[in-house]
Amino acid sequence: MLLTLFSSCSKNTNSADTIVFNANVWTGDENQKTAQAFAIKGDEILDIGTDEAMQQYKGSNTKMIDAEGKFITPGFIDAHMHLMRSGEMLLNVQLRDAKSPEEFTQRIADFSKTIDAETWITGGSWDQTQWGGEMPRKDWIDGVTPNKPVVVMRMDGHMLLANSAALKIAGVDKNTADIAGGEIIRDANGEPTGLLKDNAMNLLLDIIRAWSEKRKHEILKAASQHLLENGVTSVTDMEGLNPSFQSYETADQLRTANELNIRIYEGAALGDFAKVNKADYKNDKWVKFGLVKGFVDGSLGSRTAAFKYDYSDAPGNK
Ligand SMILES: [Zn+2]
Repeated sequence: MLLTLFSSCSKNTNSADTIVFNANVWTGDENQKTAQAFAIKGDEILDIGTDEAMQQYKGSNTKMIDAEGKFITPGFIDAHMHLMRSGEMLLNVQLRDAKSPEEFTQRIADFSKTIDAETWITGGSWDQTQWGGEMPRKDWIDGVTPNKPVVVMRMDGHMLLANSAALKIAGVDKNTADIAGGEIIRDANGEPTGLLKDNAMNLLLDIIRAWSEKRKHEILKAASQHLLENGVTSVTDMEGLNPSFQSYETADQLRTANELNIRIYEGAALGDFAKVNKADYKNDKWVKFGLVKGFVDGSLGSRTAAFKYDYSDAPGNK
């Protein structure tokens, strides 16, 4: 019945750039849950239906892709991303599954040999629970990075470890005053151990994220590539207006250059949101802006989440 209906339609003059056929497509549409094929023009799906029905969009230049019966779904949407931070991590040392302080040190030592002298080692995404909970200190890595600044983040983004070279460049030492909404962890002599929490992280982050335009493009492309490889085609970026990350501006530049291949819903921290002129941000189907994010406290792993009682391993801190 359906085939008859379609074949009786007049030939569609709107030919597709691409037709994917012989697929098992899940549409998410209540009225047409599955389909065999779909037709694409530009960045839109023209139509979806049977292999036969999509033939009407076939023009002389239409690329035909045989999906060989494979299952296809609409792209996934990640509802809470830190886009530029993630791209930065993808291009940097991987510490997420470092299982011991020795491995932590070794990975940083190995990575430092792969980059030029001026480039900072950042990213990391370490997790101290992988090796029993001892917090890392700058002296774990100073020996392998005497002249190279290192600022590696805990996986939750609420704490970082800086080595002595980085602390020196940032001018952070025992005389540095504590920062409201953050903490500089110090040893018994008042000397920073290299660990900085929440707002205190900005002492370092404001320096390392003075990225060039080229670097920002590389970072957003690295994040986009990783997302697409995992089926994610749209994201909500929680730091779209962060002046250090400049995610919105970078996405806008890539979109203009026709190089943006994920859809981004840009969000802003309350503080950033208050500072911008909303009229400067245009919305279209590739980059939208509007979400606002507020913080109440920090995170469990960084011991900055707010509690009624003291942390069992950090008396005096709740
Ligand atoms: Zn977040």
